[in-house]
Amino acid sequence: MAYTAPGGGIRDDQFFWDGLREHKLLFQQCSDCATLRLPIEPMCGKCGSLEWDTLESSGHGSVYTWILSHHPNNPDEVPRIVALVNLDEGIRLVSNMIGIEPDAMANDIEVTVDYVERDDGVVLHAFRPVTTA
Ligand code: ZN
Repeated sequence: MAYTAPGGGIRDDQFFWDGLREHKLLFQQCSDCATLRLPIEPMCGKCGSLEWDTLESSGHGSVYTWILSHHPNNPDEVPRIVALVNLDEGIRLVSNMIGIEPDAMANDIEVTVDYVERDDGVVLHAFRPVTTA
């Protein structure tokens, strides 16, 4: 599903949101210098290239750091746990944590991506702890 941005163009990050609908966590790799990047950007921050390929993340990683957010942004429940996740591919992503209480949160815990379908049809990524049980 293509989203037409104000001015008529297709958003550069449309494929990312389309990927989430298919439960795929996608990121970019610069076609010229091979640098991986996420969040989605139209230009490589390292070499300035406008060419990229799309790759799918394993969705597996670990928590680098996290906060407990009390910001009342409807419709999300508050407080919510917001984590900076180190993905196995070597890129980082800010996301919500689910399936874990704040008391159990810690840096370096192993996490995997999950997908949250909101009432408005938007699908968001979120991460939950990898349980070994
Ligand atoms: Zn580059």
